[in-house]
Amino acid sequence: MPKQLTVITYPHPILRKKSDIIDKRDLLDKSMKELLLDMEETMKKKDGAGLAAPQIGKNIRLIVISHEKKTLFLINPTITKKSWARKIEEEGCLSVVNDKGEIVYAPVSRHKRVNCVYLDEKGNKKTLAASDLLARVIQHEIDHLDGILFIDRLNDFPNKPNSSKK
Ligand SMILES: [Zn+2]
Repeated sequence: MPKQLTVITYPHPILRKKSDIIDKRDLLDKSMKELLLDMEETMKKKDGAGLAAPQIGKNIRLIVISHEKKTLFLINPTITKKSWARKIEEEGCLSVVNDKGEIVYAPVSRHKRVNCVYLDEKGNKKTLAASDLLARVIQHEIDHLDGILFIDRLNDFPNKPNSSKK
């Protein structure tokens, strides 16, 4: 049975590390398969639109996304194309909570459409053309793999942390 994992919250240093590429052969491991299902379970239980491996304490390039009642597993995802058009929408993150443990929301500008390439859970190379909410979630989750949080992309977040990544 998949189990719910503990979600790490800001300012934990794991959230700031750049995550490692996953070796395709590792996808055959039982422990990796369990991790994928545990992350899916955690995302669902927490009612998140997506979850990145650093959020459960693993600095590897893996994200899970809930899309149209299905779960997408994206391993080593890379954005290959971004629309010039951007859109500002409210965004939140399971790892960014206030002192009551509530999720904090704020408007973030993202590319309206992105294309990305990734490996699925079986190691097959896939491409995905995403727009609107799915595009936003993909950008948010891939940021996690690079140690970037959505609060880094705001202009007026209080106590904005210094991002050392760029
Ligand atoms: Zn997040």
